[in-house]
Amino acid sequence: MGRLIGRPAAAFGAGVVTHLVGDLLPHRDFDLALETLLLGGTLLALAASEGVHSPAFLGALGGVAPDVEHGLALLGLMDDDQKWFPTHTGRLPHGCRIRSLANQVAIGAIALLVLASVRGSDT
Ligand SMILES: [Zn+2]
Repeated sequence: MGRLIGRPAAAFGAGVVTHLVGDLLPHRDFDLALETLLLGGTLLALAASEGVHSPAFLGALGGVAPDVEHGLALLGLMDDDQKWFPTHTGRLPHGCRIRSLANQVAIGAIALLVLASVRGSDT
């Protein structure tokens, strides 16, 4: 999404919006260790391929930024009632938890197709 948007600040904001949409959809959350590993690997790959100042990387940061408050709560640095992101506070519904990976695989495949098409149009 960030690569499509093309402007760093707007890409970061679009990332936050995609997080909101993702939270609204039924999805499966993994344990913290796996999520951290997947996140770290994805961010490292994006940083290496796109650069840390790229809209793609900044869009990804925007996409994960809302969950920083979950990490702060897990570390005891924030109380659950201090969270502000609407799908984390109940102001907007959080998508039901499912066991299937189908949604994540479909969203990942769509994201890769979009990235491939944007890359193809750059050359
Ligand atoms: Zn979230």
